[in-house]
Amino acid sequence: MHTVKFDGRDIPVGKIVCVGRNYAEHIKELGNKTPDKPVIFMKPANAILASGGTIVIPAYSNDCHHEIELAVLIGKKAKNITPEQALDHVAGFAVALDLTLRDVQSVQKAKGLPWEIAKAFDTSCPLSPFIAKDQVKDPQDLQLKLAVNGEVRQDGNTREMMLSIADLLAAVAEYFTLEEGDILLTGTPAGVGRIRSGDKIEASIEQVGTLYVSVA
Ligand code: MG
Repeated sequence: MHTVKFDGRDIPVGKIVCVGRNYAEHIKELGNKTPDKPVIFMKPANAILASGGTIVIPAYSNDCHHEIELAVLIGKKAKNITPEQALDHVAGFAVALDLTLRDVQSVQKAKGLPWEIAKAFDTSCPLSPFIAKDQVKDPQDLQLKLAVNGEVRQDGNTREMMLSIADLLAAVAEYFTLEEGDILLTGTPAGVGRIRSGDKIEASIEQVGTLYVSVA
């Protein structure tokens, strides 16, 4: 059983649903097209790495990228919900990394194959403890900042999301039932880049928290 910290308790995690290409500047930097529907993939719960942990880059990659993302913890079952109802299903927020083996992903994309081997490896989902949603004033106005060895690489704001958290939850719940303990990652702003052995990563989202991880 894989768990995350929420409000001082250990919550069992079901699935981690991730959204790609949700910030315009990040779409540009990777030369991707703007999707007409959200790009969705998943990570298993055993991809979770708690703050303070060590990322292990798989031997089959030479280009692991950091992507800072706001993580949303589901508190109540959701299926076929409207965006207006969506935030009622949210329990809390955390800082997440959607670690991505960019070289492996590029090959998969070129072949039209799924991304899991680039996105869902062990330790690919570092997560800070979750805080209750009422501790965040406006989840669509939060600064996200990621530094590697003290050098700021990503500095964005959740207001730059193309689809809001509510829109994403409604879109995802059309495909999959979201249940208590599921997690949604909401996409990354521009500035993604390579991490290497020995790097120290500090990722923070205002009002939400800070995540510290290092690379083996
Ligand atoms: Mg991502």
